Amino acid sequence: NQGLGSWPARRTRMTPDGVALTYRDDRRTYRELATRVDRLASALRALGARRGDRIAYLGANHPALVETFFAAGALGAVFVPLNTRLAAPELDYVLRDAGAEILLLGEGHDGAGLPGRHIGAGEYEDLVASGDPAPLDEPVAQDDMCLIMYTSGTTGRPKGAVLTHANLIWNTFNLLVDVPFRHDEVTLISAPMFHIAALAQTLVPTVLKGGRVVLEPSFDVGRTFDLVEAERVTVMFGVPAMFTFLAQSDRWPHADLTSLRHLLCGGAPVPEPLIRLYQDRGLTFLQGYGMTETAPGALFLAAEQSIAKAGTAGVPCFFSDVKLVAPDGSPAAPGSPGEVYVQGPNVTPGYWKRPEETAEVLSDDGWFRSGDIGVADEDGYVRISDRIGDMFISGGENVYPAEVESALYSHPAVAEVAVIGVPDDKWGEVGKALVVLRPGAGARADELISHLYGRLARYKIPKHVEFVPELPRNAAGKLLKTRIRALYGEAG
Ligand code: AMP
Ligand code: MG
Repeated sequence: NQGLGSWPARRTRMTPDGVALTYRDDRRTYRELATRVDRLASALRALGARRGDRIAYLGANHPALVETFFAAGALGAVFVPLNTRLAAPELDYVLRDAGAEILLLGEGHDGAGLPGRHIGAGEYEDLVASGDPAPLDEPVAQDDMCLIMYTSGTTGRPKGAVLTHANLIWNTFNLLVDVPFRHDEVTLISAPMFHIAALAQTLVPTVLKGGRVVLEPSFDVGRTFDLVEAERVTVMFGVPAMFTFLAQSDRWPHADLTSLRHLLCGGAPVPEPLIRLYQDRGLTFLQGYGMTETAPGALFLAAEQSIAKAGTAGVPCFFSDVKLVAPDGSPAAPGSPGEVYVQGPNVTPGYWKRPEETAEVLSDDGWFRSGDIGVADEDGYVRISDRIGDMFISGGENVYPAEVESALYSHPAVAEVAVIGVPDDKWGEVGKALVVLRPGAGARADELISHLYGRLARYKIPKHVEFVPELPRNAAGKLLKTRIRALYGEAG
């Protein structure tokens, strides 16, 4: 098995008694992790899971999520982590699209109505215990699928980005060039592992080096300070909103952060003042730019350059290439904007069962179109300046207005609607809905908002609603989003 499913066993050959994982009072060594992964893989096979099958997990960060990820790899199956923030109809869509046969449920998730064979949190330990501890030794190749992560899209329908074992392995090499993970790393993972960054930028490199993962079910400011001090955490990843919350906390001035060697930040634009706050404390605050489809690292700003080149996301990762393409298709000159394209061994082979959407963003020669706009300086350092299309990012979660608009159209009083992202101090951006009501219809903002609960994940639900008499459209009837943003782009 050349895939990631073999990593706990490979690590066990080197550091069997090293602690792999701590979670609250639970602690497991690499040997224990490897044995439990082998048992779980055998047990899942006994339930019928085979190579190439999709195995989904719905839950917050937990050792069971980590074990399922590796056990799926040990089987040659494909791990499908689900965003716990999605509403039931969204989860249902993703599970059917992925064709997941098995769904493991974390604590607090009953999975009611969702398709697939369920394994509840209460059944998990029995399932592991029922499995044979002998390794399966499946012939898994590095180009086999490792996981599918769902992201929404311009069409409003989530699509699954496929990542192979090779994609994740090369991302790890890319990361290790700039962030020298060590055997004694203590890595705090509180960002959700159903997103690529927590999985690929923290779990995978820590296991590779035999460090210790401190797992948290979710991000909490107080717990973060407690754990950094008590466990002497050396590495953590966060989206900008997480680092902002820490710096605004009343514990920030007194907390002992001296153990932290690397703070990794990305997933959304990183405000420059935030970088300064951390650097002023002598902390190494590293910014990376990437996306699910590139597993995720594409650009990285090395520690030595983080002050001189603050505000940029750095240069292409060692094994990857990035080019900026002007609207006319020519290479963008330094100082002028271009769309960011990424090529390299970390780039996805495509979206699950979506050849057309794959062809739109991935060319035959392997260049992936990010939909982001960047500007390079004379030294090749790229500042991410804008985004094509109208996706916005709220607290690290991508929101595609088309999806929110179609949910609002299902309300009988809504004649027309446009959703845009507006600036927000806490979340970076939040949604604002501009609504034209049907003649004679009445609806209050709070009625429209409550209409969305249960239909959409909360982070997608607009924080602001403004009623407008009409929305600007072009001759073809298409909404003029740029004009709408210019007219209504203020919060409130
Ligand atoms: P996702 O599709 O959820 O993986 O999110 C990827 C998107 O997040 C990218 O296409 C960018 O728009 C945004 N992003 C990620 N990292 C950065 C960064 N360092 N600066 C600006 N935008 C970023
Ligand atoms: Mg994206």
